[in-house]
Amino acid sequence: MLLIKKAIVPSLLCDNEWIFTFIWDSISRIQFMYTGGKVKISVLILSLMAISNWGYSQNEEITIRFISNCGLHITDGNANIYVDFPYRSGAFIYDEFDRAEIDSIQDSSIFLFTHTHGDHYSRKNMKYVLKHKKGKKYGKWNIDSLVNLESELTDFKIVAIKNKHNFSFAHYSYCITWHGKRIFIAGDAESTETVLRQKELDWAFIPGWIFIAVLDEKKEIDTKMMGIYHIGPKDSIKIIHPKVLVLNKQGELITISNSNSMPDRNKKEINLE
Ligand SMILES: [Zn+2]
Repeated sequence: MLLIKKAIVPSLLCDNEWIFTFIWDSISRIQFMYTGGKVKISVLILSLMAISNWGYSQNEEITIRFISNCGLHITDGNANIYVDFPYRSGAFIYDEFDRAEIDSIQDSSIFLFTHTHGDHYSRKNMKYVLKHKKGKKYGKWNIDSLVNLESELTDFKIVAIKNKHNFSFAHYSYCITWHGKRIFIAGDAESTETVLRQKELDWAFIPGWIFIAVLDEKKEIDTKMMGIYHIGPKDSIKIIHPKVLVLNKQGELITISNSNSMPDRNKKEINLE
């Protein structure tokens, strides 16, 4: 099915006219193209300094590392949670990742999967990881046992929310709470319903189609920050907004401090013509 739709995004995006072309392919992906004219914009990017300071300080902050596609590594220095990683590198044209990413997975980690499509999950890779690194994996096959994690991961609360994704019998978004900080991970949720139900999020990780659908519905996600992920190699997504980070660089780091409610990120302002 090919659906082309034009949408004028309101003043939220710096009063510039943005035209998004939606192209649904056989696996319900949406690609975006920006066709605006000259604009002066500010973006937030991580400085090299932030990358060189990569590390953890126990229990004072939580770090989220964007691995690739929808793969995230969340840690407070004690527990390690991976979401939708490892998947099958390069599946459905989505990002390939370096083998070193699998080798660097922390021992005895928790692995959460939104669903089992190849761009989110790899049975083969998980078999390797569980054999060499131990840990536990959670997904549609054992989602009910997630509650048992609470006695083990005392600093985290993880809630799975079942929702719909085309061509998948079982799909779950996750809300992860750590010392009052709330992180929502949409996965491939088709509709805005789940994310719009969430309250007082610190970060919401959502695919581009959810971001656009929320704008179309003239609603707002109750979150301090949004990370747009699941970006394919042919997708060109430019969203300039202080609450939005487009995750198109593997290894991008996000830090949420326990003492500071705002993400502790180095900011750099640049102008693009
Ligand atoms: Zn996907």
